Amino acid sequence: PSKDLHAFKKVLSASKNIIVVAGAGLSAASGIPTFRGSGGMWRKYDAMSLATPESFAENPSLVWQFYHYRRESALKASPNAAHVALSSFTIPKVRERIAPGSDFTLITQNVDGLSPRSNEQVFAQAGVTVPDTPPYLIEMHGRLFDIKCTQCDHVEFDTSSPICEALAGTEALVEKKELDANIPIENLPRCRKCGSLARPGVVWFGEVPHDMPVIDKLVEKADLCLVIGTSSAVYPAAGYAAEVADNGGTVAVFNFERTPGDEDVDFLFLGGCEEWLPKALSLAEEVPVS
Ligand code: NAD
Repeated sequence: PSKDLHAFKKVLSASKNIIVVAGAGLSAASGIPTFRGSGGMWRKYDAMSLATPESFAENPSLVWQFYHYRRESALKASPNAAHVALSSFTIPKVRERIAPGSDFTLITQNVDGLSPRSNEQVFAQAGVTVPDTPPYLIEMHGRLFDIKCTQCDHVEFDTSSPICEALAGTEALVEKKELDANIPIENLPRCRKCGSLARPGVVWFGEVPHDMPVIDKLVEKADLCLVIGTSSAVYPAAGYAAEVADNGGTVAVFNFERTPGDEDVDFLFLGGCEEWLPKALSLAEEVPVS
């Protein structure tokens, strides 16, 4: 694959239907641990086995503590330069100078809320409202701060989450490696509609991601796909780049390390996406929106 940034920008400028498929690496520079790769607390607790409906059924208290810890990390984090570069590129007036006449959607597997927070900040600063069609952001694996009822499936933003009494202090338990404190079920978050036990409003391994029909259409139409900070191990997201390539589109990967299938892609930018994206999306040289 090529690592020629100039050539990439030429392709970018001619592209009309641009998608980004993002993963945990997008938020790594914000201090949020990835599931795979070095570092993070997940090693001891095996995130992959906690993020399943079966683990929740078996030990909802432990799974809630894990998610509360993830919420605490997300609350402490701020969007990094990669999120900001993507938010700026989302603004039609900015994108018009870089890739005239293009549509753009960020499809993220992340649940940390940093992309929507970055969008809010960047759009407000630029004084713009971005049209919803096509969707400019799809959080395909749900949101860390949503709760979903185990009985009636009602989903809502968990306004109590940062201060949920039973779960407060989880960080200290993590430090002491005592995560499984067995909080009684009645003290865990409840559905505000029917009162039943609520679970984190995220998509777990083995569950169907959100907005699949919309995503399928975007992938089918895409002539450029940027794959950012994902180990490309979790399907369906891991298959999108190959589909774009099969349809004749261009694929560019931004990752710290080599990932499955990247030998066949058009562009490969190895390193932190927070370094590469501001350059690749030309924002450093672009005049800010007036
Ligand atoms: P992953 O943990 O499997 O892979 C992360 C990838 O990011 C690795 O390939 C790593 O090399 C790369 N990476 C790390 N730092 C980077 C950087 N600064 N710049 C570029 N690349 C970098 O994550 P995944 O592929 O997203 O799959 C795991 C699943 O767990 C997904 O559903 C994911 O959303 C979820 N998850 C989400 C978060 C979050 O919301 N922030 C965190 C962990 C896991």
